[in-house]
Amino acid sequence: MKFHSKDISLAKKLDADDPLKSFRDEFVITEEKTIYLNGNSLGRLPLKTQSNLNQVVNKQWGERLVRNWNEGWYDLPGKVGAKIAKIIGAQEDEVIIADSTSINLYKLVLAALQYQSERKTIVSDEFNFPSDLYVIQGIIKQLQKDHNLVIVKSNDGITIDSENINMAINSETALLTLSHACFKSAFLYDMERITKLAHDSDALMLWDLSHSVGVVDIDLNKSDVDMAIGCTYKYLNGGPGAPAFIYVRKDLQDKLNPSISGWFGDSSPFEFNLEYNASEGIKKFLTGTPPIVSLSAVDSSIDLILDAGIDSIRIKSIKLTEYLVFLINNILLPLEFKIGSPLDENFRGSHISIRHPEAFKIVKAMTDEKNNMVVIPDFREPDNIRLGLSPLYTTFEELWLTVNRIEEIVLTKEYQKYQEIKSVVT
Ligand SMILES: *Cc1c(COP(=O)(O)O)cnc(C)c1O
Repeated sequence: MKFHSKDISLAKKLDADDPLKSFRDEFVITEEKTIYLNGNSLGRLPLKTQSNLNQVVNKQWGERLVRNWNEGWYDLPGKVGAKIAKIIGAQEDEVIIADSTSINLYKLVLAALQYQSERKTIVSDEFNFPSDLYVIQGIIKQLQKDHNLVIVKSNDGITIDSENINMAINSETALLTLSHACFKSAFLYDMERITKLAHDSDALMLWDLSHSVGVVDIDLNKSDVDMAIGCTYKYLNGGPGAPAFIYVRKDLQDKLNPSISGWFGDSSPFEFNLEYNASEGIKKFLTGTPPIVSLSAVDSSIDLILDAGIDSIRIKSIKLTEYLVFLINNILLPLEFKIGSPLDENFRGSHISIRHPEAFKIVKAMTDEKNNMVVIPDFREPDNIRLGLSPLYTTFEELWLTVNRIEEIVLTKEYQKYQEIKSVVT
């Protein structure tokens, strides 16, 4: 994609021509001076979800009380799972909402290792989300069966060469598990190709879609993916700590053990039998009582994604990232910045990482609420500023303003006022 001007008028024109522009009005936006580029960490609150939660809390919980379990709550994990299935290329009975991403990973890794009991190796990469690697390390310790984790390295610090993955997989590999879009660099794997590499060695493939769901057009069925998990509070705008989703391909569902045999995964939880009897299908991957309030938030938030259409969202996401890269190339590269994300849009999710030796202090200056303009990105060690672009509410003008603000912070050395003191959540 070519852009010919770094003038703000181009940004305004791109916004005016944007077919998804009306979606921004569907979100709660209270501070006009604030540019929010962190939807890849916590998405904004949709108006529809604000009113839905009001209804869920006051009517369903407040008035209907326990009766509401039979008036919609009990079926909600499957209903919302079916909606998510539509944007990840799965069948509606292959996806369900349960627990957190970390717990779902635990359940599926354990299930995969049991299923592949002759094989002892799990392959992942150094760009995977640390929680994913921690969960795998913990399982290996608990099982005490000499499993080992192989971590594939990057050659350039930004991408992972599929040949490196290929070389790590062999007849000992039980499972290959990767983040589809990597949280630091936004590197996006070719899902179909990598899944095939796993299958060529009869290994199972598990994708973590947390950083790609809702912004990338995913087709799990076409790519023949075995298992997947993902967050709902990032680009799906489900709210802080909203429950995660879990996908298991239809023909694998009765072959895999649910790992945590809680009563919601039992075939008849309300008979209160003393012996566990796993439910048929995807339902057996439920654990305990679902968090209805936050699950309801996911239910209404996902509708915006369905209304906009994942293909249109991906098209805008690419345009946003391309435009941002264009501005960074022209304005920030002369100021000691480096781009820490892939330049090829086919291998990139919806955020752009830029790197600078003073990144931490620059972020402090960007987010300082005493300033006239506040820009909220996030900082990732050691020197990454992540700019997350959410196609339903991020505008081209916001990107123009952001890059020009960063230029100002660096040119005027404004960042030197700030100290290197980190808060708990960065
Ligand atoms: C955000 C994220 C998680 C978070 O997992 P939680 O259990 O919800 O805290 C896991 N994996 C990836 C790839 C993520 O981006």
